Amino acid sequence: FPSRLPKVGTTVFTIMSALAAKHQAINLGQGFPDFPCDRELISKVHAAMLADHNQYPPMMGIAELRQGVSQKISALYGRDYDTDTEITITAGGTQGIMTAILCCVSPSDEVVIIEPAYDSYRPSIDLAGGKTVAVSLTANRDDQGIVSSYSIPWDDLATAINTKTRLVIINTPHNPTGMVWQSSDLERLANLVRNTNALILSDEVYEHMVFDGHQHISIASHPELAARSFLISSFGKTYHVTGWKVGYVAAPAAMMAEFRKVHQFNVFTVNTPMQYGLAKYLKNAEHYLGLPFFYQAKRDYFRKGLQQTRFKLLPAPASYFQCVNYTELGISQTSLSEADFCSWLTTEIGVAAIPVSAFYAKPIESGVIRFCFAKEEKTLSSALERLQTL
Ligand code: GLN
Repeated sequence: FPSRLPKVGTTVFTIMSALAAKHQAINLGQGFPDFPCDRELISKVHAAMLADHNQYPPMMGIAELRQGVSQKISALYGRDYDTDTEITITAGGTQGIMTAILCCVSPSDEVVIIEPAYDSYRPSIDLAGGKTVAVSLTANRDDQGIVSSYSIPWDDLATAINTKTRLVIINTPHNPTGMVWQSSDLERLANLVRNTNALILSDEVYEHMVFDGHQHISIASHPELAARSFLISSFGKTYHVTGWKVGYVAAPAAMMAEFRKVHQFNVFTVNTPMQYGLAKYLKNAEHYLGLPFFYQAKRDYFRKGLQQTRFKLLPAPASYFQCVNYTELGISQTSLSEADFCSWLTTEIGVAAIPVSAFYAKPIESGVIRFCFAKEEKTLSSALERLQTL
C-alpha cells in the first residue's frame, strides 16, 4: 500500500512504553507523570458529567474554558487573546501542532525546525506537502567535552529563513534539552522574520516547568511575533492528566479562522466534561504557579542520584526531562546506538529511556538518552538503584 509517510514507523514513545510494560521496567521514557492528578479536578469533571454536560460542545471549545485560557495568558504574558475568535481547545498539544501546520503550509512551502525536535513536527509537515528545513541546536561543551548549555544557531537560522519560509517552529521550554528561550532570543527571531511571510508555531507545552528562578518567556509576550504566531499549550502536561488529551491554541483571529477550518474536520471538537472540569479548576492559579517548585524538587532529587552513577549529566533547566550521556560508563554497551542502548537499558537493567536520536531525521549519535523525572520519589529511587549498578 503506497505510504504517505514512508519513513515513519510507530513513535518512539509508544515503542518504549510497550517495551517497558513487556519487561516490567521502570518507565522513565515517554513523558508522563506516574502520580495522580488532584482529586478536586476529577470531582469537577465528575460534576460536569452529572450535570449532563455530555453532548457536543461548541467546535472551538466551551466559552468558559476559552475565557480561562485568555485570562491566564493575559495575566502571565500580557497579551489579550479574544475569547471568541483567537482561542481554540484542542485534543492535546500534538493535535494543535498538526492542525496549525495543515492550515498554513502548502505544498513546497518551507518549514524551519530546530533539531533535536519533537517527533510530530516533521511528519505533520510532510502530510501538508511542505519541505522541512532543519537546523541544529548548538551544544556548548565544557573542558571535558560534556554539554554545559545550548544556544540557538542564529547563523544557520538566518540562512534557513527566506522568502520560501512559511512557518518556523520553536519549542520553549525545549523537549528534550530543557533549553529556554530568552527575551533577546525572541528579539533576534523577530529580526529574522520581519520582512518575510513566515509564521511562527511556538510549542510551549512545558511552560510551567522552568527551574532555578528562571522565567518562561512566551511568544505571547512579544507583540510583533505574537501577531504572526500559533501558541500551543497542554492541560495534560500542566495538570498531570496526559491521558485526557486536552490542550489549546491561541493565535490572531485571521490565523485562528484558518486553524478552525481544519480543526472542525480533524477532531470537530474536544470532549465536553473535561472542558467544564478544567474551566472550573483553571480559575485557581495556585497549581500552575507552584509547578516549577514541585518539578524542581524532583529534578534535584533525580540529578543527585544520577551523580552517584557514571552517566554524565546534561543541563536540565526546564521541562520534566533529564538527558544523560552514557559513553563513559566503561561497559561494552557504550558502543551501542542510542536506540539500542535504550532497548538494552529497558530489557536488561529495567529502566526505560528515550534515545535522543529519535529527535533527529538523520541521527547524530552522541550517546545521549532522555529520562522523564515526572515520577513519584519512590519510582525515581528504584530507577536510580538500578542505574547505580552500571
Ligand atoms: N511529549 C511526550 C514526550 O516527549 C510524548 C507524547 C507522546 O507520546 N506522543 O515524551
